[in-house]
Amino acid sequence: MESAAEAARSILTGLHDVMASGDAAQAKLNQVVNIIGEALSSEVCSIYLLRDGVLELFATRGLNQSAVHVTKLASGEGLVGTIAENVDTLNLDEAAAHPAFRYMPETGEEQFHSFAGVPIVRAGRAVGVLAVQHADPRKYVEIEIEALQTTAMVLAELIANAELIDDHDVVGSAQSGTVVLNGLPLVTGMASGVAIYHQPHVRIEHTVAEDTEAERARVYSAFDKMREQIDRMANLAEFGSGGEHDEVIATYKMFAYDEGWSRRINEAIDSGLTAEAAIERVQQRTRMRMRQIDDPLLADRMHDLEDLSNRLLRIVAGQMGTAAQMGLKQDSILVARNLGPAELLEYDKRRLRGVVLEEGSLTAHVTIVARAMGVPVLGRVRGVRQTIREGDMLLLNVDEKNVIVRPSTAVEQAFSTDFAVRQKLKARYAALRNEPPFSKDGKRIDLMINAGLRDDVSSIALSGADGIGLFRTEFQFLISATLPQRERQQRFYREVLDAAGDKPVIFRTLDVGGDKALPYLKDEGSEEENPAMGWRAIRLALDHDGLMKAQARALLEAAGGRTLNVMFPMVSEPWEFDQARALFEAQMAFLSSRKKQLPSRVRYGAMLEVPALAETLDILLPKLDFISIGTNDLTQFLFAADRAEPRLAERYDWLSPAILRFIRRVVRECKAHNVGVSVCGEMGGRPLEALALIGIGVERLSITPAAVGTIKAMVRSLDVGAANLMMEALLDRPVDKLRTAITDWAKEQQVEIG
Ligand code: PEP
Ligand code: MG
Repeated sequence: MESAAEAARSILTGLHDVMASGDAAQAKLNQVVNIIGEALSSEVCSIYLLRDGVLELFATRGLNQSAVHVTKLASGEGLVGTIAENVDTLNLDEAAAHPAFRYMPETGEEQFHSFAGVPIVRAGRAVGVLAVQHADPRKYVEIEIEALQTTAMVLAELIANAELIDDHDVVGSAQSGTVVLNGLPLVTGMASGVAIYHQPHVRIEHTVAEDTEAERARVYSAFDKMREQIDRMANLAEFGSGGEHDEVIATYKMFAYDEGWSRRINEAIDSGLTAEAAIERVQQRTRMRMRQIDDPLLADRMHDLEDLSNRLLRIVAGQMGTAAQMGLKQDSILVARNLGPAELLEYDKRRLRGVVLEEGSLTAHVTIVARAMGVPVLGRVRGVRQTIREGDMLLLNVDEKNVIVRPSTAVEQAFSTDFAVRQKLKARYAALRNEPPFSKDGKRIDLMINAGLRDDVSSIALSGADGIGLFRTEFQFLISATLPQRERQQRFYREVLDAAGDKPVIFRTLDVGGDKALPYLKDEGSEEENPAMGWRAIRLALDHDGLMKAQARALLEAAGGRTLNVMFPMVSEPWEFDQARALFEAQMAFLSSRKKQLPSRVRYGAMLEVPALAETLDILLPKLDFISIGTNDLTQFLFAADRAEPRLAERYDWLSPAILRFIRRVVRECKAHNVGVSVCGEMGGRPLEALALIGIGVERLSITPAAVGTIKAMVRSLDVGAANLMMEALLDRPVDKLRTAITDWAKEQQVEIG
């Protein structure tokens, strides 16, 4: 067969004539199946369309004509139903061998072996299926599938124009009544508002081009416009207005000038599509490929491409407005397949209450930005387009992992009661902002925050925290498409220090590798079996010391004239700390020889998150200024339980004698050596756990900013002396359920544990 473009082109030329003819819709479909069957030399070509919620055979060449309008399949039923349900292509050399195969005797299809089908898509949903079948068992080749997919796109237009299917039926199958959709919590919180689709759908009116060269010119000019826009955004970011999104814009820029992308669109135009259809076609194909990719970081990059592709489509169609540009009229919950972080930043913060995504992941740019904006996000929600209509009332409860669509009045009332309680509590915590965290018996507990983004720094002021106890420097690297250069790092660290003012910031050097892989740092292509225990953090940093040297210089220069607090992640033996410190000191000497201003003081620390380090504290402690206990990693190593494994998530409790005794021992030893010690894992952000930690002698916690109020309220209602006695007794002779015992004690003592 010729090229994909030629195959599609010959079909499209035929379809163009059919569409222009004055024939009745059914007659048009009958011609269409013949044109396609002919062009692909397929014995069978059939079109199924969705009517009354089921897929009905509307036209066929090769199957029994008596089956037309008789053969019907529910979504998910048989091969055709499976294609519609998954909105995905099937290409099989032996149809009957597929588990979803269902034999339809009225069609006479038993003589055909190979089968390929593609969904006919409108507004992201399958409204039908186009299928071809062959007598001899062979898989259809890529270019045939491409041609089918292109044809399906044109069919979607033909079907819409001919009003062959009831639009209401398509979009409206599950449209009434309350529905609860579940998802993956990405940013916690509760919100209510009306559903707003990020991208009011660009309706592609015409798919088949009248004049291919004119379409090409339209795409070229749209590319020019888009590149101009991105360049303008990049320039703005350079002047410091960009926050996180200058990193993102770098990714956009890379794609905007990507030749492969414009070439593919051009090829789609060659096949006879209009500019809009060509862009959409390439986007569809990318989406399908993406589904097969199991690399979250790559997937995140692909979302940026999708973001850009939508922008191009809107430019070419002259429909530039996103919901953000049209302005939010009321409290809204944004609904999108996915979203670029820059796009999220365009929304009016006062009215944007939450976000529901069909995709999304914890490490995606948009999630990081939403967290910094304080907007709750539920990701990986399935069935969004089928269920949520623009303007529907939504109740988003990320803590419950769900969004309630079109709630009844009773549900809405219950939600507002919960919401009000939460708001009241929040207001109470906010009022505590300027109150120091002294316990009832006068003990000062330092409450610091964990941060990693520029926007996080404002949380110090908002939460009234004592500083940043853990600044995860790898975040800047993770959201960047390319390795952040030293000058860029330095600028960023200086901004963080400036914003923190006289409050301390503890910078943790790069903690990457393992599961926090940087796409531009794929070393020796080694796939690790146990990434959490692998070549990560300080191990990688010492081996690849160029990266660490650049970071050290950036930190030292940024802190010129001030105190620099720096700590190293995953230290397992004291020599690793020694080497890292020596590396910093060598950079100091270098800077000093260049007459650069040095920090007035450098305080060195280590994270204690590998249990082995606890056995050598007598060697380590005399060498450093502070220790920070990272309970996230420490717990996974103490219990040998992967912190990312959902089946183990609730198996071991932080409130266990093993963990608490371990931490108590470390705290005691640090105190004996007069070395400051804090806890910076997630554990410290939970009231009961924080109580227990304070009870075993911890006096400094670094926690997620949102938890500062809760923990401060707990501290202010706690008698630390009494907590010490209680924890001593409990750890000396542990009871069966430590959590229950501590809860009972807190209640009895009227400690605010939320
Ligand atoms: C920890 O391991 O507890 C920690 C604070 O670091 P991270 O969560 O970044 O690994
Ligand atoms: Mg850690």
